[in-house]
Amino acid sequence: MKKVAIITGGGSGIGAATAKRFAKEGIRVCLLDLKEERAENVKEEIVRDGGEAFVLDVDVSDEERVVEALETVKQEWGHIDILFNNAGINGTLNSIEEMKVEEWDKTIHTNLRSTFLMVKHSIPYMKESGGSIIITSSINGNRTFSNFGMSAYSTSKAGQVAFMKMAALELAQYRIRVNAICPGAIETNIDQSTDKKESVKEIEIPITYPEGSHPLEHKSGSPEQVADVVYFLASDASSHVTGTAMYVDGAESLL
Ligand code: NAD
Repeated sequence: MKKVAIITGGGSGIGAATAKRFAKEGIRVCLLDLKEERAENVKEEIVRDGGEAFVLDVDVSDEERVVEALETVKQEWGHIDILFNNAGINGTLNSIEEMKVEEWDKTIHTNLRSTFLMVKHSIPYMKESGGSIIITSSINGNRTFSNFGMSAYSTSKAGQVAFMKMAALELAQYRIRVNAICPGAIETNIDQSTDKKESVKEIEIPITYPEGSHPLEHKSGSPEQVADVVYFLASDASSHVTGTAMYVDGAESLL
């Protein structure tokens, strides 16, 4: 029986690369994204290459839409085996003093509340036959360097790792594995989700290491390099791995 995966933020970057990788491995993929047109393009590419995919236009921070989406996937393909909880934004970069509550909430809701909602509502579909959940956190959940203005983002990403550990323990009884990936700088469209305020520019210090590079190579990682790791965590090759946050950053976090 073919496996079924739900990928949030599947219309771009890491989510899109993972959708294509999963489809190549014979996994059916449902792409959830706010930007439906981009996700449709990814779907068309997958289908052209012989894979199976469909798109749902869902804001993953909206509980009602999340519940509907999961039920739609179940109706379409009968079961859900893999959840790649990946949608996210950088959001507003602002000093803590200047940060508006709405700015804070938008980032926390999009990145963290959505993670809770997606995992919570996937459990009923996975608990009988087990499954794998992978959450996209970030190296920025665990460091401060070059993170000026990212208090909401970093908090959401650290929160995702804490939540992943609790979920891994709680869901082990159902043979649902839960892991996180922590990418460093990856070449995607994430900058389009960034609104950098003046307050941040004032407190920024010069970065001596070339921005977007890492000790392995002087360039950002690719979404495909991240997709390889997500596929490993989704597959039976990682059957004894749960509760882990895996860095995919070329050692950028060690700088
Ligand atoms: P991206 O902008 O290319 O893709 C993110 C996708 O999420 C977009 O298609 C966007 O429309 C979608 N999305 C945003 N808000 C949504 C919502 N409320 N509901 C549904 N979909 C929504 O960026 P990416 O880099 O591929 O980001 C994927 C994940 O990787 C994010 O969680 C991000 O925080 C994380 N990450 C990225 C980097 C990086 O350098 N690119 C580094 C570390 C972590």
